Amino acid sequence: MDEETRPDRASESLDVLVVGAGLSGLICATELQRCGLRLAVLEARERWGGRMLGGSSPAGIRVDLGGQWAGATHHRLLALIDACGLQRYPTHYDGDGVLIWNGGFHRAGVEPDFNASLLFLRPAELGLPAAELADAQRVAERFQRLVEQVPAAAPWQAADADVLDRLSVSHWLDRQGAGALARYPLAWLGRLGGSGGFEPHESSILHLAWTQAVAPQNATPEAWLVEGGIAQVAERLAADLAGRILLRSPVRAIHQNAGGVTVTLADGTERHSAAVVVAIPPPLRLAIDYSPALPPQWRGLLQRSPMGSMVKVLALYRRPFWREQGLNGLGIGNLSTLELTVDSSPPDGPGILAGFIAGERAGRWQHLSERQRRQAVLADLQAWWGDDAAEPLDLVLHNWNAEPWSGGAFTSFLNPGAWTTYGPVWQAPQGRLVWAGTESASRWPGYFEGAIEAGLAAADQVTALLGGSRSC
Ligand SMILES: Cc1cc2nc3c(=O)[nH]c(=O)nc-3n(C[C@H](O)[C@H](O)[C@H](O)COP(=O)(O)OP(=O)(O)OC[C@H]3O[C@@H](n4cnc5c(N)ncnc54)[C@H](O)[C@@H]3O)c2cc1C
Repeated sequence: MDEETRPDRASESLDVLVVGAGLSGLICATELQRCGLRLAVLEARERWGGRMLGGSSPAGIRVDLGGQWAGATHHRLLALIDACGLQRYPTHYDGDGVLIWNGGFHRAGVEPDFNASLLFLRPAELGLPAAELADAQRVAERFQRLVEQVPAAAPWQAADADVLDRLSVSHWLDRQGAGALARYPLAWLGRLGGSGGFEPHESSILHLAWTQAVAPQNATPEAWLVEGGIAQVAERLAADLAGRILLRSPVRAIHQNAGGVTVTLADGTERHSAAVVVAIPPPLRLAIDYSPALPPQWRGLLQRSPMGSMVKVLALYRRPFWREQGLNGLGIGNLSTLELTVDSSPPDGPGILAGFIAGERAGRWQHLSERQRRQAVLADLQAWWGDDAAEPLDLVLHNWNAEPWSGGAFTSFLNPGAWTTYGPVWQAPQGRLVWAGTESASRWPGYFEGAIEAGLAAADQVTALLGGSRSC
């Protein structure tokens, strides 16, 4: 990414302008380029990839600072990784994971059926009170029945949608009479399931159930890792689009009329095209000035679509020492800072624990000094994995809330009432403007797989708009 690439001439009228060079925009542009359309990609940052971001630890080890996993059923993403010639390896789940619950240390093996587990772990092995486990199972089963009732393409059409969309996850749990242990997995799904980064009082039970209907945790979304990092996928896609990506080009305005689209950049430069694809996270779409104005129901939806709150943590060690005690690095529980760790060590490489600080914990953590931030993370790593964990070779803390062109992570979520009031406009194009970005996907929104699906769907819509078809 040393060299910035520039589309040929600013004055030229192109077929398509793509706003955002994240995975979704890159995929969309790749498809449209394959169809012979003349295009440019306008990217606000000085780099491409968006939430797909590679980096090096201070000791020079390649890591993913953004997303890192491919799921067992993420067929498009897996095919893309393979087509890029990248090597993938399965996430290490052999051995016991650890739940720390109210200060108690509970280890158990991984239950392959997520719906029968207590957050991945075999409940019977945890040594927790039988009544609390039974309560957790009862609530999980009720939630699963709800998930099965939510139409993935139209959650506002679920039975009792009006009621469920106005009940926060917390209130729904109250109504079930759920105890603390039973509440925890649903709170965890909001904070760290693919939806990522919201608290149980911030969204509705309808939204949480929808996230599991379209992106089920049971389908193992954290199945595969990529040697050298998955962000190499963005590098490869960008290389194939050489000459068509314009970096440091934040889009400020999109004007459309019968003749075409004019896109204005922050420096006042104008670009012209027949159609435009906007492949950026929903809250950031509001920062663009549209004329004609977006319909009020679209603005209503976007105003109720905040980003989740997320910090990615990577702790690197000389070796995955936890495996020597039969542990697999999967850490969950109600600790003060970290929400999760997962063994992300490459084969024959250093030991790497990937973790997250999510939701309000991430918000509070940001108020700490640098030293306190590290101490808080190290204390939790030590609680799960012992004294060796307190002295990593490197500790990488990447705060996605501090990235203005993401605004948080993993993805956006909807506030209570938004689906049933505004939902039907969710994916609707506006004239010559087509939406992409993972949040626009019908399947696996919030994930790379969703970003690819939405990018391909946008390419279809654009080619239809321009009078062709994508099979071109
Ligand atoms: C910490 C973290 C962990 C994650 N873990 C996983 C995982 O393991 N597996 C998985 O599948 N997914 C994961 N995700 C989610 C995944 O990274 C995203 O779903 C995916 O990368 C989104 O791609 P996108 O193209 O839709 O959006 P983005 O990647 O956000 O791309 C949007 C692009 O638009 C640009 N932009 C924004 N506004 C403007 C503007 N006005 N003008 C021009 N450009 C603009 C941005 O700079 C950005 O480059 C994770 C995300 C994070 C942050």
